[in-house]
Amino acid sequence: MSHSFMSTETAQNINHGHNYCPFIPVFGPPAVMFERGKGTELWDVTGKRYLDFLSGIAVVSLGHSNDAVASAISQQASTLLHVSNFFANTTATKAAVKLSELMSQAGAGDGQVFFCNSGAEANEAAIKLSRKFGGRGRHVMVSAYGSFHGRTLGALALTGQPAKHEAFQPMPDGFRYCEYGDLDSLEKVLDSSVSAVMLEPIQGEGGVIPADVEYLRAVQKLCNERGILFIIDEVQTGFCRTGEWFGFQHSGVQPDAVTFAKGMGNGMPVGALWARKDIASVLAPGDHGSTYSGTALATSAVLAVIDEMTRIDAPRLAREKGQRLIDGLSQFSKVDHVRGRGLLLGAQLVSGVETKDVVPALLEMGLIVNGVNATTLRLAPPITTSNEEIDEALSLMEKVLS
Ligand code: PLP
Repeated sequence: MSHSFMSTETAQNINHGHNYCPFIPVFGPPAVMFERGKGTELWDVTGKRYLDFLSGIAVVSLGHSNDAVASAISQQASTLLHVSNFFANTTATKAAVKLSELMSQAGAGDGQVFFCNSGAEANEAAIKLSRKFGGRGRHVMVSAYGSFHGRTLGALALTGQPAKHEAFQPMPDGFRYCEYGDLDSLEKVLDSSVSAVMLEPIQGEGGVIPADVEYLRAVQKLCNERGILFIIDEVQTGFCRTGEWFGFQHSGVQPDAVTFAKGMGNGMPVGALWARKDIASVLAPGDHGSTYSGTALATSAVLAVIDEMTRIDAPRLAREKGQRLIDGLSQFSKVDHVRGRGLLLGAQLVSGVETKDVVPALLEMGLIVNGVNATTLRLAPPITTSNEEIDEALSLMEKVLS
């Protein structure tokens, strides 16, 4: 079946006058074609301006075309892009040391880092870590219903959304699910074949659902008692998005391993698995790898992100801007309540109001948010968003929601 693309004249010029889509249609027809961005603002091919209150999907936390990140990438591009993993490079080494320092400051202890290119890849590395840790016969990972851990086959199996598995059955063996937030449900699926439990501190794709602080602490206690790894997926929540450097800090838990991507590169494709040293040591040379693990280019973005987030005190900014957004959203009669932390927020709409109507209307007015489900709007603007931009977004939402 042919897939039509975009009707604007400029978009068709780029597409040599055709309106068939040059992409394999896994994403559905694109709504807009963008040309450039700065901070919270984006401009499409017709010159129309938008406020990006989604940041990619929680990716460009320091804003589009961030100066510090752009300059780090461009300097690195003319210094050294890549050497093979037979060798180290100075930039990736500095980035791994900085990430380990942040994790140590967050109370997780001393650890080591494996760099990769995406959240799914980080979770694939976590799957292999937990299988090697458990050994033969103890290879099962437990994750939560409603979770999202990525689209590669292992990460998809880890994703607790059976509907997403259907077209690709059979799924790899060794994955089980529990109800998110329900300790009894987790306890029921734990047996001697389980090597690890993986949870998101806030289920992002699952509807912006924060885990209860006490629940995460109880899961950690249970895992410790049974000798099971407690792994946190910080792909969406990490790097200051929730008002702390990492989402697990809100509950004061000490995960054995953590995965990252999205905000850590501010748009540069990069991800990572961190594991505490005693756990990381179960992986030996040859157990895992990637041609692009820790390229100098990708990790130059990580270094710049960490430096810039530290310089601007991004956790505090995310908390303050998040509160301003919550205060505004809570005034709307069509918003039942707001969930989430910092600048990862879900505005639950009242019954009868649906995201399929609200999201396109907001886009038309120049505001980008997404419908994370039929009745929840997800808002995740850059942490650098100004108060004026928040107020502008709120006034656009007020118009659409009234
Ligand atoms: N884990 C979580 C919590 C995510 O939200 C996502 C993406 O949305 C992923 C993993 C997958 O990351 P990627 O799309 O970079 O593979």
